[in-house]
Amino acid sequence: MTNIQKREIKAKKGLELDCKGWEQEAVLRMLCNNLDPEVAEKPEDLIVYGGIGKAARNWPSFEAIVHSLKDLENDETLLIQSGKPVGRFKTHQHAPRVLLSNSVLVPKWANWEHFNELEKQGLMMYGQMTAGSWIYIGTQGILQGTYETFAELAKQHFNNSLQGTITLTAGLGGMGGAQPLAVTMNGGVVIAVDVDETRIQKRIETKYCDKMTRSLDEALAWAEIAKTNGKALSIGLVGNAAEIHHEIVKGGFKVDIVTDQTSAHDPLNGYVPVGYSVQEAEKLRKENPDLYVTLSKQSMKKHVEAMLILQQQGSIVFDYGNNIRQVAHDEGLENAFNFPGFVPAYIRPLFCEGKGPFRWVALSGDPEDIYRTDALIKELFPENEALCRWIDMAQEKVAFQGLPSRICWLGYGERKKMGLAINELVRIGEIKAPVVIGRDHLDCGSVASPNRETEAMKDGSDAVGDWAILNALINTAAGGSWISVHHGGGVGIGYSLHAGMVVVADGSELAHERLERVLTTDPGMGIIRHADAGYELAEKVATEKNVHIPMKEI
Ligand code: NAD
Repeated sequence: MTNIQKREIKAKKGLELDCKGWEQEAVLRMLCNNLDPEVAEKPEDLIVYGGIGKAARNWPSFEAIVHSLKDLENDETLLIQSGKPVGRFKTHQHAPRVLLSNSVLVPKWANWEHFNELEKQGLMMYGQMTAGSWIYIGTQGILQGTYETFAELAKQHFNNSLQGTITLTAGLGGMGGAQPLAVTMNGGVVIAVDVDETRIQKRIETKYCDKMTRSLDEALAWAEIAKTNGKALSIGLVGNAAEIHHEIVKGGFKVDIVTDQTSAHDPLNGYVPVGYSVQEAEKLRKENPDLYVTLSKQSMKKHVEAMLILQQQGSIVFDYGNNIRQVAHDEGLENAFNFPGFVPAYIRPLFCEGKGPFRWVALSGDPEDIYRTDALIKELFPENEALCRWIDMAQEKVAFQGLPSRICWLGYGERKKMGLAINELVRIGEIKAPVVIGRDHLDCGSVASPNRETEAMKDGSDAVGDWAILNALINTAAGGSWISVHHGGGVGIGYSLHAGMVVVADGSELAHERLERVLTTDPGMGIIRHADAGYELAEKVATEKNVHIPMKEI
């Protein structure tokens, strides 16, 4: 293990294999794709997105994973513990090639202080959601979900369009970077504040954001003109949200919608306190982490206070899944939870139908393979106009990052249909190489996260973690290609348990069988979880689609 160094990583493309089978090759390419500089936020530190969400524990672990994958047989399974390969066993061909557990702590010890201590000793890694489970696809991965959220908000509050509205948000990182494009796709104007100018620059380069300024006055003037003219426009504003939002309040400027995607889930690594530049913050983080966390939490409280004032003044305000309300509440802001989370406000009905962020990646590296799958969506679901419109918009507006990929929200039955059809196109050669099919952990039946995906469940079961574990177990039994269990993604250590699933369509009969099973069990978990919690829509879908729920069958 000597001489292991940071190096620039890119996923291999084309038909030549470095591994002993396509499944292992798929894992290797997706691990490398997660760390492609086009995809990852800080690849030199193995950080993919979401604060310190990493793909491997350290560089020696990365090299050992690569080595093991190249040597892994078609009937073996590799085990990853928080980003480090720890074992390899003979299993069987229908079993996953890789099983991962990331950042999981015994509940009593599940807090950032303990995690950070273990991380310092090299014993743990923060896996976020798709970073440590190797199915991150860049900002597109969250784009449709963000688009759907704003579309639902537009439907509920603004007559189906955001035209003539101004949204104020912050955080233009790996995931938050989808916000400006999602708002403009809905016809609106958005001011997105980020303290780090390079992050805004990256969104402009990848066509997610239109313009950048360092002046609040200029941002407000641009926004006002675009709003008056009914034009869609996204503005990246360099600044600290905890300050800028109060200045907006003071100036009496009217914003219609307010949310936030700074990495507030991680007070040490994800949020910059008021008064610090990115460089100064980095220095303080190293020199005095305790002071950093204190200042960071105080700033978050200020930030939420501004959001609450804007809500009182008539803005639609919602939490976008970064746990900022919890931090503000812990800092003494009693009414921090006065605005709702995005799942109960806009997404839960989709979860009841087993719908969620389904995604796929072309291992050939050829964009034409993704365009073929775009056409396939329209062939299979022509009646779903919103979905077909999404595919057109994505083709026009989304720049691929790393291996070409696509995301769209599909439900129970639809995912299996799409997965099997992709496998068939691979088999007959209309798609040049195998396709990786997976999803975000933010899905209908794979997460327990009381301040996010399972906030305000009808039966009060917000914190029940069994569902996430059952999701991973059933998808393993069904034969996913790599299956993961994580803790702390999205909202931070102590606040969530969630599972990931990826399955490879290589055109084989074996893949057909495994896709058929996994793409049924996985969204099926969403239906049974929500039916169990008493959601009538989920119960109805279960009956219509013949999903077996024993307690409803006696
Ligand atoms: P990231 O760490 O890549 O980006 C965070 C951004 O926030 C950075 O660009 C940083 O400069 C900026 N920032 C930090 N402090 C700031 C401040 N005080 N003012 C202005 N900007 C500041 O994270 P990401 O991947 O974009 O995720 C952002 C958050 O959203 C995370 O908490 C993540 O868990 C959550 N998330 C939500 C969803 C969802 O669907 N709602 C999905 C994924 C992630």
